[in-house]
Parts: sequence; C-alpha cells; structure tokens
Amino acid sequence: MQIVSDIVSVRAALSPHRKQGQRIGFVPTMGALHEGHAALIRRARTDCNVVVVSIFVNPTQFGPHEDFERYPRTWEADCALCKREGVDLVFSPPAAVMYPEGYATYVTVERLSEPLCGRSRPGHFRGVATVVLKLFNIVAPDAAYFGWKDAQQLILIRRMTEDLNLPIEIVGVETVREADGLALSSRNRYLDAESRRRAPALYEALRLARQAFEQDGVADCAVLTRRICDHIDQHAGGRIDYVEIVSLDQLQPLTSIQKGNTLIALAVHLGGARLIDNIRL
Ligand code: AMP
Repeated sequence: MQIVSDIVSVRAALSPHRKQGQRIGFVPTMGALHEGHAALIRRARTDCNVVVVSIFVNPTQFGPHEDFERYPRTWEADCALCKREGVDLVFSPPAAVMYPEGYATYVTVERLSEPLCGRSRPGHFRGVATVVLKLFNIVAPDAAYFGWKDAQQLILIRRMTEDLNLPIEIVGVETVREADGLALSSRNRYLDAESRRRAPALYEALRLARQAFEQDGVADCAVLTRRICDHIDQHAGGRIDYVEIVSLDQLQPLTSIQKGNTLIALAVHLGGARLIDNIRL
C-alpha cells in the first residue's frame, strides 16, 4: 500500500494502471475510519482493480463553530484499516495542498444543498461539493463510493457528477450499523455513556415509521414525522435539529409517502454529538 500526500504522486501512481485500462475505485473519507468506511472500501475492492482512499478533514465543509479542530484524527489506525482491506493508495494531503494561498473557486449544487443538513449547516455542502470535485479531478476514478448514511451528500454528488459531465460512476453503499441499530459514525465517539445508550432510539424511530407505513398503511407525512419526533423525545432526548420526509430525487417535502421515492431523514444533537440518520421508503 502506497501513501502519498501530494497531487503529482497520486497521478504518477495511478497513470500506469490507467494506461492498462484498469478500473480505479475511489473512497473519499475524513479519516477516523470504521466499519462503515470499510464497507465502502470492500465494495470498491470487489468492483475495481485499484482502490484509492483519501483521508482529508476538509476545512471548507465545517462551519465556524463546528468541530473541525476536535474532529477525531486517528492516522495510524486508519492506515492499518486501509492496509487490512487491501487499499492500493492512500491520499492524505495537507490543507495547503488542497487550498493553497489565493484559492478562490467553489462549487454550489443548487437546491439540493439547501434543505435538511444544508439549513442548519450553511456552506457545508458547498465545501463538500468543492472538495469532492477537486478529489475527482486529482484521482480521476472510474467509480466513487459514498455511504447512504449521508444521503443528502450522496444525492448531491450524483447531481454534480451528472451536471458537470464527469465520467464517474457514483455508487451508494448501505449504512453500516452497530448491533443496536446506531449508524456507525466517526462522531459517535463524542457520545458520553448515557447518550450512547439512548442513541439507538433514532433508528428505532425511523424503523417505527417504516412499520407504520408498510404494515398499517400510514402514509401521511405529518403523522409519521410527529411519531418520529415523539419517539425521539421520549427515548433519546437531546435536541432535534430536523426530522423531515422528502422526495429522494429532489429532496422536496412530501405530504404523503411516495413509495420508491421517499427519504426520511433526521439530525439530532445528543450529548455533544450531532447525529444524522435516514431510511428510504
Ligand atoms: P466521512 O469520513 O464521515 O466523511 O465519511 C466518508 C464516507 O463514508 C461517506 O461516503 C460516508 O457516507 C461513508 N460512511 C460514513 N459512515 C457510514 C456508515 N455507517 N455506513 C456506510 N457508509 C458510511
């Protein structure tokens, strides 16, 4: 496994593979790697000849009062996980390589960046789209792997890739969860013991909504949203940022569940962490 921190070295490492027509798979991450990231890597490993992982805590996607400084950085363990999963190349640039002096260009994916997490994290998706496009231009992969855990991000990156005519297949990978249902996240380590105990209630609330729709035919989004919020208030506590039921393609609010085109997404502040989760119906 090769580890590089500059752009010329990424291109040099990948160019012979590209010349041989090998399929290059790319998994962008911010490090603090866990089994969710490993699932993306494994999928890339299965689909592609060459697997590239980037590890970069991207400053432009953090708001001024967010957790950029304290975001977990676990370099040694990340490298060990990549090695164990058969990654070929790790790209871990310093911020100055990605955003050198005088940097001035940003990517905005209109509409899709506005609802859900976009509302409480202004500028977040501009930072995400910008860094992902830059990484795509540096790595030039055939396929890139993103988790459904960050559904809005996946949908927005798909839109950007199509809009900007990038010849990259965007692959979505299902959310990996703890045994009790909590979605794996690098930010779970912010949870104190009591919050960790309560956190599975978020996914429970989503599952109850699925059950209400699939088994009892409850399709009214206002009713389902209320039930989810009530379950969270009663069993998780914390502060709900949002619980929303939107269309999967446009992320527009729905009044009634559209089977096959529905995303139920939530964000909750719980014991020092802001947790997100979602299901699709
Ligand atoms: P991050 O390092 O948090 O920026 O995440 C990097 C990639 O891993 C993103 O595409 C995430 O959606 C994905 N990811 C994070 N957590 C999970 C999870 N629990 N299951 C599946 N994918 C995940």
